[in-house]
Amino acid sequence: MQFTYEALPQRVVFGPGKRSEIVAEVDRLGGARVFLITDRAAAAPGDEAAAALGERVAVRWGEAIQHVPEDLAARARASATESNADLIVTIGGGSSTGLGKAIAASHNLPIVAIPTTYAGSEQTTIYGVTGNRHKEVGKNPAVLPKAVIYDAELTLGLPTFITGPSAFNALAHSVEALYAAGCNPVTTALAMDGVHAINRSLPTVMAEPSNLEARGELLYGAYLSGMALGATAAAFHHKICHVLGGAFNLVHADSHSVILPHAIAFLAPALPSEMRRLATALDVPDGDPAGGLWDLAVASQVPTTLEALGLKRDDLPEAAHRAFSEIPHDAPREFDEADILRLLTNAFEGTRPVAG
Ligand code: NAD
Repeated sequence: MQFTYEALPQRVVFGPGKRSEIVAEVDRLGGARVFLITDRAAAAPGDEAAAALGERVAVRWGEAIQHVPEDLAARARASATESNADLIVTIGGGSSTGLGKAIAASHNLPIVAIPTTYAGSEQTTIYGVTGNRHKEVGKNPAVLPKAVIYDAELTLGLPTFITGPSAFNALAHSVEALYAAGCNPVTTALAMDGVHAINRSLPTVMAEPSNLEARGELLYGAYLSGMALGATAAAFHHKICHVLGGAFNLVHADSHSVILPHAIAFLAPALPSEMRRLATALDVPDGDPAGGLWDLAVASQVPTTLEALGLKRDDLPEAAHRAFSEIPHDAPREFDEADILRLLTNAFEGTRPVAG
């Protein structure tokens, strides 16, 4: 056996109530002028953190938008400069973390992240800024949060219509880490346990959103999945979602829940051993992971058609063209633009995927 695995340096504090350790984490990093980004929907933990940090809060920033529009990044960066901030705290989903990363990329400031969704951005060196209908994605070690606090209590109020797709976003990270560039036995172990934890906890969380234990397991699965993505790369499925978000402004997490079963059905013939592993992690007895993902999506009541996300049938050719030009050329299976159009058409119509 031989492989290269680069572990990313980060401190993780995990457990219900652990948000109370925010001051200790800021202290460890020597933060004296905090740029505090809080999602409006997670206002209470934002208020709590602001009270705990007291005079150290140099800026409290309440605006976060998915895919980080260029003008938002520019305004936040200017505010970080003006306020002489020396550390960023983000409390919220991937949009809040993403804005923090956009500032960190230009200002080289450390981030303490407290995620409140399952997006997993806090585990990666990837950041993106969107302008002119294109999401420009870069990698920079400086944007990886130095510390992350995972506190499942903060996810108890996450509505199920956000919870389900967000969990699929995490699931997609693990599924694609099984074959993405840079995958190795360590990332496969992370991904397998990530899929297992999400698959086991998601139905319970959807049925009982205030079940703290199940929320904790789902958050743990999202953490592992973020690590798996962070140590590999965005691959075939993920690139399609980036195009749908960047060019058509679809909700990022929702696009994951719609596309993932179809992307896996397309890639499955080229990935027999990876699909066997995935079937095991998903616990699908017939060994059909694409069908298993679809069944989990239906059972979790997440969106399963691009039409439901607001895409128009007339948009499909442009989406296929853009995706075709952005998908990495090292994808496990050869494909042409017509293949992507077929995949997107199936996803638009929401038919149960058949591998092949
Ligand atoms: P988001 O941060 O926009 O959150 C989704 C919705 O949930 C928002 O309406 C938000 O207000 C609400 N919300 C968040 N926390 C809440 C809570 N505790 N209670 C109630 N509502 C709450 O979206 P997201 O899906 O978390 O993240 C998507 C963004 O993250 C996209 O821009 C995506 O590209 C990016 N992302 C980046 C990476 C990376 O590695 N760079 C990885 C995954 C996602």
